[in-house]
Amino acid sequence: MNSSFISMVEKAKRYASEPERISVTGLTVEFHGNNGTHALALRGDEWTCGCDHFAVHSLCAHVMTLQRLFAAHLTPAMKYTSERVPA
Ligand SMILES: [Zn+2]
Repeated sequence: MNSSFISMVEKAKRYASEPERISVTGLTVEFHGNNGTHALALRGDEWTCGCDHFAVHSLCAHVMTLQRLFAAHLTPAMKYTSERVPA
């Protein structure tokens, strides 16, 4: 292995231990849930999910899962979504 590859690996290891260096600005995800596969996206601060629960409540377990997984890389507005309660 050449030395520049080794130094890239070392740098990547160091960066990976410093998650605050990475800010997610958008995501497109395919989520394999218990009842099917759902298309999720984060654009700006807005999450969307193709599942039935999200269609009614603007929040679902799939979005909440991604908010947990990527918490270190999301702004507060991306991290916390309030559920819409139907009238
Ligand atoms: Zn969902």
